[in-house]
Amino acid sequence: MGNQVTSLIRSDRSLNWQDQLSDLITDPEELLSLLLLDPETCPYSLEALSQFPLKAPRPFVERIERGNWHDPLLKQIWPAQEEQSKTESFVADPLDEQNFNPVPGLLHKYQGRVLLTAAPHCAIHCRYCFRRHFDYQANSPSRKQWDSAFSYIAEDSSIEEVILSGGDPLALSDRQFHWLMQQLAGIEHLTTVRIHTRLPIVIPKRVTAELLQCLSESRLRIVMVVHCNHARELDPAVADGFSALDAIGVTMLNQSVVLKDVNDNSEALINLNKALFAHNVLPYYLHMPDQVAGTEHFMVSDQHAKALIKTLHATLPGYLVPRLVRENPGERGKTRIA
Ligand SMILES: *Cc1c(COP(=O)(O)O)cnc(C)c1O
Ligand code: SF4
Repeated sequence: MGNQVTSLIRSDRSLNWQDQLSDLITDPEELLSLLLLDPETCPYSLEALSQFPLKAPRPFVERIERGNWHDPLLKQIWPAQEEQSKTESFVADPLDEQNFNPVPGLLHKYQGRVLLTAAPHCAIHCRYCFRRHFDYQANSPSRKQWDSAFSYIAEDSSIEEVILSGGDPLALSDRQFHWLMQQLAGIEHLTTVRIHTRLPIVIPKRVTAELLQCLSESRLRIVMVVHCNHARELDPAVADGFSALDAIGVTMLNQSVVLKDVNDNSEALINLNKALFAHNVLPYYLHMPDQVAGTEHFMVSDQHAKALIKTLHATLPGYLVPRLVRENPGERGKTRIA
């Protein structure tokens, strides 16, 4: 029976990334049955689901260990009952981002760089996400609204770098993405485009020939910051995508969030950073989780996180130790904790 179920879940190799993106697992019961878990012993919260639906691409779910309720990948997507706990300091917009939103879809908070919410959605819903309450619909400009974002950037020559974020900017089609890259390349004072994305991890087929072509022919320097929290998220298909991006000269970095019962131990973080570096990806940030409503059960204390970094420093070369940071509302950059 195990084999039968496994063959159901194995994503059809003929599907392209967009098929996979429109065939997400959204029903917790389906997820449990694919993972051979008993619904009786795996509770979830309907309230959590209605606030932030379950969304999990099948290629990611394939990497979850069958029958393991404590799997670190499953923890990241499961609408746990703990999400309902209410603590006053956990709020919808902990970073006060609405105050740095001069035109729709654009955040200008830090010197020299702006962040564009380039796509209205993600391929996966990470339960700890600090943007889980963000109004993407209000912040996903149409082409006409894009123009006001481009004008804003064009009028401020102190802006050198555009960070494409989301949502997930690679949720855009190759055609839309190409258009966006061309518009940005047309703004003379820009030197760099940074792409913050989880798609090459969760749907490795997103690294298409068209995407590679678009990135390699741009005059702009390309930095890609993927988001991976555990070595088990990396499989051979993900590695192939990394190699292809590396081969065209994209600077590859990773950011993670330190999450209770996912990666809050030094072994998990050491394995993660070694596994990433095996594919030429260097660690960038290790974020402390933000105090977002519904994510309290992922919290790790500063003291514990600092101890983890200390162990990493004692074990790994310096370039494989991520910067432990937190975002504090109102500060002009992320705050280093260790
Ligand atoms: C994180 C972030 C950036 C990028 O900051 P870096 O320190 O360059 O990584 C830019 N804008 C916003 C709004 C951010 O949250
Ligand atoms: S992919 Fe990134 S933005 Fe999207 S839900 Fe996950 S953490 Fe949030």
